[in-house]
Amino acid sequence: MSNRSSRIPGFYKLPFEKRLEIVAKWANLSEDEVSLLKNFGNLDKKIADAMIENVVGGMTYPFAIATNFRINGRDYLVPMVIEESSVVAAASNAAKMLREGDGIISRAGPQYMIGQIHLVRVDSARYKALKILEKKDEILEHANQQDPILVKLGGGAKDLEVRVIDTRMGPAIVVHLIVDVKDAMGTNAVNTMAEAVAPLLEKITGGEARLRIISNYAVYRIVRAYARAKPEAVGGKDVAEKIVEASILAESDPFRAVTHNKGIMNGIIAVALATAQDHRAIEAGAHAYAARDGTYKPLSTWDIDSEGYLVGTLEIPLQVGVVGGATKVHPIARIALKILGVKTAKELAEIMAAVGLAQNLAALRALVTEGIQKGHMKLHAKNLAIMAGATGELIDIVAEQMIREGRIRFDYAKELVEKYKKQYQA
Ligand code: NAD
Repeated sequence: MSNRSSRIPGFYKLPFEKRLEIVAKWANLSEDEVSLLKNFGNLDKKIADAMIENVVGGMTYPFAIATNFRINGRDYLVPMVIEESSVVAAASNAAKMLREGDGIISRAGPQYMIGQIHLVRVDSARYKALKILEKKDEILEHANQQDPILVKLGGGAKDLEVRVIDTRMGPAIVVHLIVDVKDAMGTNAVNTMAEAVAPLLEKITGGEARLRIISNYAVYRIVRAYARAKPEAVGGKDVAEKIVEASILAESDPFRAVTHNKGIMNGIIAVALATAQDHRAIEAGAHAYAARDGTYKPLSTWDIDSEGYLVGTLEIPLQVGVVGGATKVHPIARIALKILGVKTAKELAEIMAAVGLAQNLAALRALVTEGIQKGHMKLHAKNLAIMAGATGELIDIVAEQMIREGRIRFDYAKELVEKYKKQYQA
């Protein structure tokens, strides 16, 4: 056991079954565990094996639907995939509070992403930066030759920005290709363009292109969502005022702002997972945007307007796609998009921002009233009962007793499972 090695040459070349066999031996997995891993659920084994490397099994997350969403005057059923309890219920609940009129208004602009090329070892960087600008049309044309499909659809490289940055190895030139990626998340298109124009930029500047890749700081892909709720809808004037206080506290305390934003991302990432988006890109961009002024801030704000309504706003960069990436490969993502009924990346981004805003309202409301744990605890109690070995109806019996007695703990769940199991057996 102690001298086993994780160095497995050619692991990636082995058939899936052989890889699983090695892992099963390594971890002493039981037959049941192996057959669970082998279950790819609703993802074809071949597709899974082609999506990523070294696949040894599948893992299924629950796929749920948030109800009540009305966004830009249209009703949506929102697919969410998440491992955390209460998120879907909370989103549905808050969406109900924000249904009035056209519901949540959410607006995204054109879908522009930034492709970066970093040039180093350039002399007279400022002068060379201007020479790059001089050749802008030629550079954009070369970039656009890389993706005729995108260009035909009206997308492609639209503009060029050049900056000189001071680094500890001296000045460097940063070129930004501004690319309209239309309905794609855009990474492949942008990266291909960045790599293609790099030699041209080297020629113009005499420098060396180091990094040639998209920036996930998607500052041109901002979505703005806003909504208002009657105070009665959130539990009265007092609750509405406390929600505003919670929002203000997040503005002044980065420790709180991070958790505030995590609540927003609960909703956004659940939709991202259901539609197979690159959620790491979304998270990275969102948190960078939250810190754009040098201090980490909440992505949303809550206030009370002159008519006494609770009004919320959210501003977030969202890099999502309905073509390309895994969105078209994963059959469940395709079904999720069909349930949403979206055809463009812009509309998907608008829905996701709206879900983030609703999710935020639900979290703040719970926090300033009964606290976050009550809702969580119901499902948590069930999870604990299952972990303690309860099956069938025993799950509810154990969970309900723990909730009734206010003792939602694993040791107590075990005690109850033991007790009732014996009773059942007797
Ligand atoms: P993609 O390349 O699979 O599809 C986009 C292409 O589809 C376009 O370039 C265009 O040629 C074509 N197309 C057809 N119809 C279109 C339409 N209506 N709008 C736009 N394009 C259309 O997908 P992608 O979005 O470029 O790449 C996303 C993938 O890249 C994700 O899987 C992501 O995880 C991955 N990735 C991300 C990073 C990063 O974000 N830093 C780095 C590497 C890879």
